Formats: sequence, structure tokens, C-alpha cells
Amino acid sequence: MNEAFQIVILGGGTAGWMAATALATMLPRQRYSVTLVESEEIGIVGVGEATLPQMKNFNDLLGLDEAEMMRNTQATFKLGIDFVDWGYLGSSYVHPFGIHGPPASGLAFHQGWHRSRSGGRDWSVEDFSFAIAAARANRFDFPAAGKTTINSTYAYAYHFDASLYARYLRRIAEERGVTRIEGKVRDVDQAPSGDIRALVLESGDRLEGDFFLDCSGFRSLLLGGKLGVTWEDWSKWLPCDRALPVPTERCGDLTPYTRVTAMEAGWRWRIPLQHRTGNGYVFSSRFIDEDKARQQLLASLDEPLLAEPRLLKFEAGRRASSWERNCVALGLSSGFLEPLESTSIYLIQIAIMHLLPLFPNGRSDPRLIREFNRRMDLEYDRIRDFLILHYHLNSRVDGELWRYCRAMDVPESLTEKIELFRHSGYVEDYRDGLFNAPSWLSVFLGQGLTPQHHHPLADAVPEHRWRELFGALNRLRKRRQIDLSALPWDYEVVLRKPTAYH
Ligand SMILES: Cc1cc2nc3c(=O)[nH]c(=O)nc-3n(C[C@H](O)[C@H](O)[C@H](O)COP(=O)(O)OP(=O)(O)OC[C@H]3O[C@@H](n4cnc5c(N)ncnc54)[C@H](O)[C@@H]3O)c2cc1C
Repeated sequence: MNEAFQIVILGGGTAGWMAATALATMLPRQRYSVTLVESEEIGIVGVGEATLPQMKNFNDLLGLDEAEMMRNTQATFKLGIDFVDWGYLGSSYVHPFGIHGPPASGLAFHQGWHRSRSGGRDWSVEDFSFAIAAARANRFDFPAAGKTTINSTYAYAYHFDASLYARYLRRIAEERGVTRIEGKVRDVDQAPSGDIRALVLESGDRLEGDFFLDCSGFRSLLLGGKLGVTWEDWSKWLPCDRALPVPTERCGDLTPYTRVTAMEAGWRWRIPLQHRTGNGYVFSSRFIDEDKARQQLLASLDEPLLAEPRLLKFEAGRRASSWERNCVALGLSSGFLEPLESTSIYLIQIAIMHLLPLFPNGRSDPRLIREFNRRMDLEYDRIRDFLILHYHLNSRVDGELWRYCRAMDVPESLTEKIELFRHSGYVEDYRDGLFNAPSWLSVFLGQGLTPQHHHPLADAVPEHRWRELFGALNRLRKRRQIDLSALPWDYEVVLRKPTAYH
């Protein structure tokens, strides 16, 4: 019998254990073996508490039980992100995981909404989103089945404790046959071809493999360190380069959304978990020093401290490619674009999903490598543009950071999107890559960009059609508000009734 193809994963953070569990679940065990090496002494970055709805698909694919996962990771539900003070001081908008309204006669809902505003109606596009209404009412419910009712028009994600998630996945991965080795890698052995041949541990042991996943975090020991893949620095567009995470006591109301509040030189997050609240200040060291950032953070917390803030340093950017030779980097070792839209864990997940259908069983074919890197480039570029949008379109008058971001040149791909929206409200709806049209719409409008005109096609839709649409939505909205306030939403009640999840 042929020997199994040996996969070696370096690192046991979120990236390492997500990859290990996915590979152990999806690849045939008789043909592939998976070994993960990690160092408790080095530890994991341990932040990363907010996710996107795709996380549920990933967990489903791995066959994880939702209620069990939530109990094990102290998770809560998330319907979107509340952006406070982002457009200007005193503003607030929610980026929901759902649509704002249905299309009419093939035209995006917001075109009709915008046309009605031109006609004098003073309503917000947020008024029509079920996910936003539920978030603002501090309520959560599972989306209804089917696609015809307004309470089926959204998805949901989780807030969880990332360290607990890694620990939970570790147990599952080990049950599914992954071998875990405790140890610190001190050297990497390369074959004459340039492929990685083995990891050398401090104990002197060698860990040989056919294929390596670099999940070593910001160190990027294999892809950046050994294979020398260059770093693309995007900090001129995303200048935040420090974070001060700090846990506080559990908040009374477990809000079903992440709150991100713009600050003088960055922004702070608030994430409700079952056992504590996650907070932190992400800031740019070019515009504020650490002491002042710490003071501003401590002065802004809603709940009592559980530990002191600890400083993390990073740079926005990514490796020029994520797959090089027989090594793929996942997670922080492949890049980091700051946590504003909770995209890092998504990037781990999507890299695994792109990798699986291209997975090698011998030497890495350059065509597989090119295809994987093309897909990951697209993912990174689209997220980059979406993040920059939040900073660039701001009307804040305080803080040098905001003036800098308003004036900076942005990537051409983003300039085009902004100009298309500014002209007649056009939002590109691409198939590949993260963030679909409703996400772009909520940030365009939330950051204060209004289209100069509604699209001319909106005038071709008969007036009564728009009236029906808004009338129907209004009626649903009223009914929905009654439903929402009646929802006895309590996380613990639901967690005690796991069957209520599906
Ligand atoms: C401030 C901040 C907030 C964030 N918030 C979010 C968020 O809300 N949502 C989100 O999706 N993402 C968020 N992220 C990103 C998220 O934390 C990471 O994407 C995620 O935790 C994955 O980390 P990782 O597994 O790549 O690296 P790490 O957790 O750093 O793991 C690296 C692993 O490599 C091992 N290792 C390293 N060197 C060696 C060696 N020489 N020998 C052996 N083992 C070694 C370590 O022991 C560890 O196990 C945030 C990041 C930061 C900095």
C-alpha cells in the first residue's frame, strides 16, 4: 500500500485548527495524514471575536452542532455591525447581514427608495431592513425559511471567544485523526528543489512532510521567513497599526451586533460574549501615542475591567502570494487587513475552501498554485477596498487621521465604485469575493455619500408599483415591529433548548 501524503500544519491558532479540522473531515484518511505542531510557550494571538455569516456554513460543512459550538465558545449571535461616529460625530448606521429591500422590475430596491426621496419622502433605507430593526431592538431570531417574507432576508454570524474556538476545534480534529505535536520550530529544511522538506524542532526532532500549511501567525515562518515571499504594504490606505484589546465584565444586554465607534485616531470595538465583553482600540501610531490611546480606551469602557489592555502591533497588507512551492499560508501568516469588518477568520475559511478543490496529492502543480493565488488576490483586494471606503468617505472634523484618510488617493478599483455610486447609485454586484451589494450600499450611505440621481430606469417603473412595494414593506415593517418586541429573546433560554436552532 502507498504511504499517505503527509500534511504538516505549523501553528495551532484559529487558522491552524480550522485547517486541521477541515482537512481531517474532507480528505480521505487512507490517502492523507495530518500533523499539527504548535508551541504553548509562544501561544496564539487570541483575539478575533467577531465573525461573518459564512462561519455558519463552515461549521455546517464540518458537521459541528451549532448549540454545542456556541456553548463551548461562549458565543452570541450577530446580525451586523453598528458604526457609531463613523460618517461624522453623532452618526450611526448598521451594516446588516441582509438586504434592505427587494428589487422591483429588475431594479435594485434602493433606486426606488432614492426616487421616492427625490419626491420628498423622508425615510431612511435602514427602515426596510429586518436585520437592522431586530438589531436596534436588541432582539434576535433565526431567519424564516423561504425567500418571500421579509424575515427571511438576512443571515447571521457569531461573536465568540477565539481561543475557545481553537480549543474546541482541536478536540474535534484530534478525534478525527489529526496528530498534535507540542514543540517549537527552530529551523526549516529545504530540498534542493526549494520545496520544504521538514520542520526541525528545538528538541532536535524532524517533522517531515509533503505539503505544509503555514499557520504561524504574524511570524509567517515558512512563507515569509523561509520561502521569502514578499510583503505588500497597504498601510498608506489602512494606516491603523496597533491594537489594545481589553476584556470587561459581561454586559447586561447581549446585543446581537458588534459596535464599532470611531475615535480620534482609529476606532474601538465592543463585542458581547456570554462570559465577558470584548473591547479594544485599533489605532494608528502615526496619529496617537500608546499612552493616550490607552487613556481614551479606558475612559470609554461601559463595563468594569477584567484585565489590563495589552498592546498588539501589526501592519495592513498581505504576502504577494499565499501558495508558494509546497506551502500555503493561512491566517495572519498570509496577511492582515485590520479587524473592522471581521474579515480575518473569513479569509482563513475561504482560503481553505479554495484550497480543498485544488488540493495536491503529489508535487504542487504550478497551475493549481496560480489558480489559488488568483482567487486569494481577489478576496484580499475586495476586502481591502471595502475597508478603505469606511475611512475615506468620512466627514469627521476631529483628528488628523480622518483628514489624512479623506484626502488620500485610494486604489483605482475603489475610485470607480465610488464614482459609479455617486453618479446614479450603481452598486456593482460581483459574484466572487466578499461583500455584496447591500454591504456596499450600507457603507456608501452610512458614510454620507448620496447619489446625484436615481437611475433613469426607476422612472420607468410605474408609480403604483413603487407605492405597492413601499406600502407592502411598511405594512410588514409595522407587523414586524410588533413581532420583534414580543420576541422573548434570551441567549441562555435558547442555549438550553438546542432544538430551537433549526
Ligand atoms: C486586534 C485584533 C483584533 C482581531 N479581531 C478579529 C475579529 O473580530 N474577527 C476576525 O475574523 N479576526 C480578527 N482578528 C484576526 C484573528 O485574530 C486571526 O485571524 C486569527 O486569530 C488567526 O490567527 P492565526 O491562527 O493566523 O495566528 P495565531 O493565533 O498567532 O497562531 C499562531 C500559531 O503559530 C504557533 N507558532 C508560531 N511560531 C511557532 C514556532 N516557531 N514553533 C511552533 N509553533 C509556532 C503559535 O504557537 C500559534 O499556535 C483580529 C486580530 C487582531 C490583531
